[in-house]
Amino acid sequence: MKKLKTVLIALMVVFILAGLYLASNREKEFSATQFLLDTTCSLTFYGDESREATEAVFEEIGRIENLMSMYKETSDVYRINTSKAGEEISVSPDTYEVLETAQEIAKESGGAFDITVAPLTTLWNFTAETPKVPTEEEIKECLNFVGYENIILKDGKVIKTKDEVRIDLGGIAKGYAGDRAKEVAERFNLTGGIIDLGGNIICFGENPKSEYKIWRVGIQVPFSPTGTYEKTIDIKYGAVVTSGNYQRYFEKGGEIYHHIIDPKTGYPHKADYDSVTVAMESSLIADCLATAVFVTGDEELLEKYQGEVYFEKAFKE
Ligand code: ADP
Ligand code: MG
Repeated sequence: MKKLKTVLIALMVVFILAGLYLASNREKEFSATQFLLDTTCSLTFYGDESREATEAVFEEIGRIENLMSMYKETSDVYRINTSKAGEEISVSPDTYEVLETAQEIAKESGGAFDITVAPLTTLWNFTAETPKVPTEEEIKECLNFVGYENIILKDGKVIKTKDEVRIDLGGIAKGYAGDRAKEVAERFNLTGGIIDLGGNIICFGENPKSEYKIWRVGIQVPFSPTGTYEKTIDIKYGAVVTSGNYQRYFEKGGEIYHHIIDPKTGYPHKADYDSVTVAMESSLIADCLATAVFVTGDEELLEKYQGEVYFEKAFKE
């Protein structure tokens, strides 16, 4: 009898300790949000070093923004955009890797993904207070300088074929930042985490809030309030990236003009879907492919890179 009592007490102590351990671990969740890369970046990390990891990851995203922003005068992109034809511009290994991937996807997508759309994105200026539809002449003029073959990469250096060629990494920089953010986070003592860079979601480790420890990512229904989901994707590890026409656009004469440009025509690409979501391990590739598939509507590209693709439409009124 006495033995049973001792066993029961011992068991109780074990349960209390386990409960305390779980409670203290739950407290090690840390979430924070910052505006970087022209978007809202939210991090949620779990584990002993969740706070330290958050700081380091924001610092890393800030570093990438400083390299790849079109507007910061010290960025690699700014130096490329203001360079003369034939001039060799040395860039950081980060920018070089992004440019190599951009050029690869440009080739694979037949030019649907093309970072040299910059003259067009500047002309359309979707975020202007009073945006306007450019004239056909203005678009034609820009198209003279659009085409990925106008950018040559050689031994860590970037060369343009014409002075007016400019690049916009808006369709790829967040993707790269997502992979880097995960890499930095994984240097810390964490059990898992989720990185959300304006709709580019990257997950790693275990989700303590899920029975099976997996992450469930919802696909935003276009033109509905943020957080409206019809479809969810369950993943253990990797990226879920969406490109859509519903975040950056303006309306004129009943027509929606959005920020994903068909580099062949110079106009926003018209499609019978409103967003394309790509799920795969690499956030960098997923970001390019989501934009590329938005322009082509062609799923075949995903086979080569072993990803999944989902097309979404707005709810009908
Ligand atoms: P988001 O920025 O909303 O995540 P995307 O990844 O599709 O969406 O990127 C869109 C951005 O990419 C545009 O704002 C512009 O800067 C740039 N862009 C637009 N059209 C193209 C294109 N065809 N190829 C590459 N980049 C593009
Ligand atoms: Mg993209």
